[in-house]
Amino acid sequence: MTPDAVVVGAGVAGLRCAMALADAGMKVLVLEAAPHAGGRASSWTDETTGLQVDTGPHVVSSEHRNFMAMLKRVGTAEQVLWQRRPLITLHDAKGVLRMPSPRLPPPLHGLPLLPRALTRLSLHDAWSHLRIAWRAARLNERTLRDLDVEEAHAYLRDMGVRPAAVEWFWRSAMLALLNVPLEQCSAASMMRVFRLMLGRSGYHFGFPRMALSQLYVPGCCRAVVRSGGQVLFGARVQRLRIHEGRLQGVELEGGHLVDAGRCVLALPPNDVAVLAAESGETALKPLATAARYFRPSPYISTYLWFDRAVTRERFWARTWTPQGLNTDFYDLARIRTSLSGEPSVIAANAIGPMARGDWPDDRIVEHTIGEVKEFAPLARQARVVHARVHRTAMAIPQPRPGTEALRPRNATPVEGLWLAGDWTDTSLPFSMESAARSGALAAEAVLETTGHPQTLSIAAPDTRGFVRLFRAR
Ligand SMILES: Cc1cc2nc3c(=O)[nH]c(=O)nc-3n(C[C@H](O)[C@H](O)[C@H](O)COP(=O)(O)OP(=O)(O)OC[C@H]3O[C@@H](n4cnc5c(N)ncnc54)[C@H](O)[C@@H]3O)c2cc1C
Repeated sequence: MTPDAVVVGAGVAGLRCAMALADAGMKVLVLEAAPHAGGRASSWTDETTGLQVDTGPHVVSSEHRNFMAMLKRVGTAEQVLWQRRPLITLHDAKGVLRMPSPRLPPPLHGLPLLPRALTRLSLHDAWSHLRIAWRAARLNERTLRDLDVEEAHAYLRDMGVRPAAVEWFWRSAMLALLNVPLEQCSAASMMRVFRLMLGRSGYHFGFPRMALSQLYVPGCCRAVVRSGGQVLFGARVQRLRIHEGRLQGVELEGGHLVDAGRCVLALPPNDVAVLAAESGETALKPLATAARYFRPSPYISTYLWFDRAVTRERFWARTWTPQGLNTDFYDLARIRTSLSGEPSVIAANAIGPMARGDWPDDRIVEHTIGEVKEFAPLARQARVVHARVHRTAMAIPQPRPGTEALRPRNATPVEGLWLAGDWTDTSLPFSMESAARSGALAAEAVLETTGHPQTLSIAAPDTRGFVRLFRAR
């Protein structure tokens, strides 16, 4: 088969891109190194129970618009279970807090949250956010990037946010959303998230009712095959073949050559760094250097099969403490259609510095059971009949200072070569939404070269309501 385009990597970004190109009538060859598709958003079968579990539990949000458009296209959007109330159930040293997600025009939607926050913070702590809130309202996507040189913790201090608020709210929120401690976080990445918290209302989470990869992998692969393309597994690209600044093709491990005038690398930064460096192409050296700057944020995901239902909650989050392990917890029996009415299957994520790589599995399991028991009293009488621990070396890249400036655009200096992936410049936090948008942007760039341009990507969200009025033009 001589493809019209090659897509390297069958994660969310690669499959979103490949499906869009196939939908436009192109014959697409997808090359995936692993024996299965899905990348970091994939699923595996637990042999003991037969349940398909994910690399780690994933959530989508009402702002995952590119990702949801992809699910709509493959007919699985209905397989996301949305939770409008509460926005989130928080578990901290003082107990449980259920936070609402009011639909009032921003920033008025914050007012109903205040009484709950004031059970944990003083009025003085809450008031100390005035300056940073004003700053966030003034920012736009362009001006917030100037903050990329600053470190989030120092920025909060400079903005006058009181330490109690930093420890209770900011540390937990940024660990859960950006996967790094504040001391290693770019102030730009943090403020992008905060300005949307302040400037958008009605935010809510959704959970896959089926195994994550089933949501999008079969549908995307079918679309590729239907237009004459192919998805190859165990096909690792080890070299790019470039001649006089133009892509000629790619070389697979084992030496097989694939001729291609158009290729999208939908890969994580470390894989792009290797391919760019080994291509020998001078024009790709800056890309290799930039990609090497991105460091991995690891995850440890634990799955616990209980002998009975232990909670009515679908999802809860534990606020950060130095002794804590997991950040977010899900009862799959309350989410997955196939587990409806079954005993609880609790999945939990330990993120970034909390993912203690030196702990053996049995210690992770024991600690996770302890954290579930602290939240769910019914778990204290229950028995864990089976447990699995899954370690991911890189869930997302760390958004440390300097990363926003280095996120590459889709186009590369090599003609016929584009990039996609959650870490590319999408104006979104590293996530499935960023991956889906990057895939759509890359497909737009490829289609432009065929003379049949299309708009496929959905713009990153911006502030609304009264907050929008303060945004710098
Ligand atoms: C445990 C966990 C929890 C997460 N939770 C959330 C969440 O709740 N919400 C959210 O939005 N995001 C979440 N994420 C992040 C999300 O999964 C990623 O941002 C997204 O899946 C990245 O997709 P991608 O296509 O950019 O990259 P990848 O998924 O990494 O895809 C790249 C693909 O390229 C392949 N590849 C690599 N090198 C080569 C090569 N040389 N040749 C051929 N193929 C190659 C890889 O095998 C892989 O399949 C989570 C991630 C993890 C691990």
